[in-house]
Amino acid sequence: MINKKRLLEEFLELCSIPSVSGSERKAADAIKQKLSDMGFEVYEDNAGESFGGDTGNIIATLKGEEGIEPVIFSAHMDSVESTEALKPVLENGVIRSDGTTILGADDKTGIAVSLEGIRSYLESGKPRGDIQCVFTVGEENGLNGSSNIDISRLLDGNMYVMDSGSPVCSIVLAAPSHKTMTFEIKGKASHAGMAPENGVNSIACAARAINGIRWGRVDEETTCNAGVISGGKARNIVPDYCRVLAEARSHDKDKLEALAASITESFRNACREFGAELEYRVEDEYVSFRFAIDDPVCQTAVRAAEKLGITPETEISGGGFDANFFNAKGIPAVALGTGYENCHTHGEQIREEDLYTSAMHVFCILEVLYEQREDKQDSPSFGF
Ligand SMILES: [Zn+2]
Repeated sequence: MINKKRLLEEFLELCSIPSVSGSERKAADAIKQKLSDMGFEVYEDNAGESFGGDTGNIIATLKGEEGIEPVIFSAHMDSVESTEALKPVLENGVIRSDGTTILGADDKTGIAVSLEGIRSYLESGKPRGDIQCVFTVGEENGLNGSSNIDISRLLDGNMYVMDSGSPVCSIVLAAPSHKTMTFEIKGKASHAGMAPENGVNSIACAARAINGIRWGRVDEETTCNAGVISGGKARNIVPDYCRVLAEARSHDKDKLEALAASITESFRNACREFGAELEYRVEDEYVSFRFAIDDPVCQTAVRAAEKLGITPETEISGGGFDANFFNAKGIPAVALGTGYENCHTHGEQIREEDLYTSAMHVFCILEVLYEQREDKQDSPSFGF
């Protein structure tokens, strides 16, 4: 069983170490020390260099018995804002900040529950296979750590990404593909009062393009958003430049292609109509994944949750995870709910009990993998 006091202290310690995306050094050093104290062989890659960060992904491996399936636990070290001034509050079984900073539960929860779940399993002395911890950098600013990881360093096993705010032990079966789009509209400047007819209004052109699309939820598995618009220099100048940042997501790759094409077409048409020039980029951020509940990676997590008396909920996510890149690189990876709530806000919180249950879920996953080996040995073998 896990050590609740140790977990709570370690969680608060990790939350208090600031680790904004790209500046994870301090957190990484503390985590590396903890992993090597547990006997892991610790490696740090150079993924940070790919996006101007000061830290790489931590890939830590603990060799175990052959015949028991290897397993990987993952979480991200970075957070959306600094927790330098964090004053944690524990009240009525809920952990939160004092309201002036984020808590950092997204995703220090994932790191703390992985460490404590594994540590307590090691203390139990039960048999185990190879265990790996993959703690990434730059997740919040675009899944940079997972997209740049050298997959050959990872074990050939299933992965649990301990990073979902859904109820504890729930299983995220699917996440969408994601495209980002940048549209730059080049019009023509002119005096707004004296010669507006000599200008080409890039902002009005962008408005026409944006208005041609139904933004938001397109269908149950497809969404799009125009998120940023910028341009213009002064009230009395017809604006010669306007930039629009948009995105689209879908669980269906064909739908996503079609949606991106229709958004692009709307900008092309508007520019043609206005006589403006268009430059645009459509980029693939990550690709979708989808599992069925009876896939092995899910079944292990289900059996582990059942040991805790929990029938895990399943979720189809509208957002991306490091799991998107791990799946794309060939590692079966699902995200598991750890119970943190209101992430990316100063109201971020987690129930103390959920923290403990999530660590127990990690513990029980290791136990299930060991028992599955026993099951295999017990079942009669047929020789041909
Ligand atoms: Zn997260």
